[in-house]
This record gives sequence, structure tokens and C-alpha cells, in this order.
Amino acid sequence: MRLDEITLEDFRNYASQKVTFDPICNVICGENAQGKTNLLEAMVCLSTGRSHRTRADRELIRFEQEGYRLEGSIHTRNRDFASHIEAGFGKKKKITVNQVPVKAAADLSAVLNTIFFCPEDLQLIKEGAAARRRFMDSSLCQLRPRYAAALSEYQRLHEHKTRILRDCADRPDLIATLPDFNLRMAETGAILIHYRSRFVRMLAAYASAAHNECSGGKEQLSIQYKTVKTVIDPFGDHKLLVMQLLEHQRAHHYAEVSSRQCLSGPHKDDLEVVIDGLIARSYASQGQTRTAALSLKLAAREIHKEIIGEYPILLLDDVLSELDPKRQEYVLNRIGSGQVFITCCEEDRLHSLLKGNVYRVKNGVVTRQ
Ligand code: ATP
Ligand code: MG
Repeated sequence: MRLDEITLEDFRNYASQKVTFDPICNVICGENAQGKTNLLEAMVCLSTGRSHRTRADRELIRFEQEGYRLEGSIHTRNRDFASHIEAGFGKKKKITVNQVPVKAAADLSAVLNTIFFCPEDLQLIKEGAAARRRFMDSSLCQLRPRYAAALSEYQRLHEHKTRILRDCADRPDLIATLPDFNLRMAETGAILIHYRSRFVRMLAAYASAAHNECSGGKEQLSIQYKTVKTVIDPFGDHKLLVMQLLEHQRAHHYAEVSSRQCLSGPHKDDLEVVIDGLIARSYASQGQTRTAALSLKLAAREIHKEIIGEYPILLLDDVLSELDPKRQEYVLNRIGSGQVFITCCEEDRLHSLLKGNVYRVKNGVVTRQ
């Protein structure tokens, strides 16, 4: 899978820009605030339908303009595709693949997959559970259209139930609607657990190999999927999962009504990362945290390859310079096949390490070196 060309119109600080890429390695250099991350963000949009930085499309529109357009020429499964996004202009967002309108972002993922890695991700291990859930969700949404649909349905139900819990003190009649929400949340929640448990099983295997190698064989990493307590076996069948989720909801009914929060369900799931027997979130050193975060990202890349048969494109935003030379080398060796986009600051000597195209970004204009 590769991105051959991208066109941005009135996207972030780009007025009108077309860039053609190398099939393997692309280094994007520039001073701060020139548009390097914005260019990678456009690639993320073309693969997921939305930005990794914001949910608001209007933030993506160049200041004082009406709307933005993105277009990508992608090669995958031995075919060429053209993905197109148009947002703003006072109209509903329009997404097409080869000129055919598509409804779900999942249709974009069917053509282009991305693994995005930025300095904040180096904290994936130390942050709260939400960061690790986002990581699972973004990988799974690109891989499994059914997961993406279940997740958006679950989030919709969750928001609605939270509103009911918030308002039911003034309107006790709303409590009667809860059982229906609970049942639908258990049904969709069970689908999330089904996919997450399988994803984490693969992730654990790949990440532990990567971590072991990256630490010079010294450290052992293990990962476990943590979900709703009453779920004894997350690999269990759908009916059983639904029953166990309902059981947990029943036990938390009063707590939910009195705290006015939705306390039960897989929206609280987490990944437990353990290094040499110690919970990484509490005990890992900085170096261990970085190695583990790196291993998770590279593991996600391998899972994509295993499921889809091709490597997703790898977007490394400013991360290589934050890693020590040994880990830099490790990442670069790992890329092997597949296409990569690496941003770095002017002064970095990275482009001398890499073979491929070098681009300079200045004030929203990209020039090939
Ligand atoms: P750094 O090296 O600091 O990470 P960068 O090259 O990655 O810098 P970007 O994050 O791509 O920088 O942002 C470049 C500029 O784009 C910022 O100065 C920001 O103000 C500007 N920008 C962001 N959104 C818009 C927008 N909607 N319209 C115009 N400019 C924008
Ligand atoms: Mg940046």
C-alpha cells in the first residue's frame, strides 16, 4: 500500500499544494510551525475520514476560506485508487473513492491505512486508559468496518445514556428508558469486546517480540486486555458477553443514578502493560516507556500487515529525533518494506541517514529537494 500523490486545497495552512511521493521513504523537513504535521494530518484524514487532532472539520479549513479539499492517489491490492474529501462550503462533507460517493469513513480505510506516531504517543504507556483505548480504536476502526460501526453506535448510546442520567433528577420519568439503553449498550459493547480481545492477543505477541529485540533481549513485555469485571472470558460467545454486561449494569444501577455517570461498560476498558513483572504505568523508566510505546505502534503495523496483507503507511511525526541512536536504527530497520513519511526539524541530520525523497516545508509550501 502506498500514497503516490496528495493534493491539499485550503487545508490548514496550505492554499493549494500537490506533492508526489517516493514509494518507500519520504523525509519532510522544515522549521517549526511551517506545515509538516498538517501534511501528515491530511494523510490521516484520507485514511480515516477525520483528523487525529480535532473532531471539528472547520478547524481544518484554511483561515478565512469556505471549505477544504483533499485528494490522494493510492496504490493498493495492485490497483490505483483516488480518494477525495470535501468539507465546508456550507454543505455536508463529501467523501468519494474513485468518484463513487461513500458513506462511512471505513470505506476510506479500505483503500488507505495509516499508523501515526508522534511524540505524545511516547507517553501512551504512562497516560490514562483513554489514550490506550484510542490506540485500540483507531487501529481496529481501520481494520474492521463492523467494529467501526459498533463503536460509533456505542458512543452514541453512551452519550445519550449520560444525558439521561444527568437529567433524571429533575425528570424521574426518564429512568424508565434506561433498560432499553442498557440492553442496546450491552449488545454493541459485546461486539467491541469481541474485537478488542482478539486485537490485544495479536498485539501482545508482536509487541513483546519488538520490545525484547529493542531492549537487546533484556526486558520482557506483556500486555493484557482489561474489560468489565463480570466478563470472565472476553473470547466467550456473544450471548454470554451480553448477559455478563447486563449483570454488571444491574449491579451498578444505583451508583449510576446517584453519581449521574455511566459507570458500566467497555468505555472503561484498558490495556495493562507489564514490563518484567511490574505495571509499566506506575513503574516504567523513561527509556522503558519509550521502548514499550514504540513496540505497541510497530506491533499495530504488523497486525495490519497480517490482516490486510499489506503494510499500512507509517507516519512518524518528529519522533525519530526523540529516540536514542540505537532505537532510531531499530525503527528504521523495522520499516523494511512499506512506505514511510518522517518529519524532522531543519537541524536534524536524519535525512543523511535515510534514502528517499527529501521535502522542505516553508509556510505551507512544499518543495522537493
Ligand atoms: P512543528 O515543528 O512545531 O511541529 P509543524 O511544521 O509541524 O511545526 P504544523 O503543526 O503543521 O507545524 O502547523 C503549521 C501552522 O499551521 C501553524 O502555525 C498553525 O497556526 C497553522 N494553522 C493551523 N490551522 C490552520 C488553519 N485552519 N488555517 C491556517 N493556518 C493554520
Ligand atoms: Mg509538527
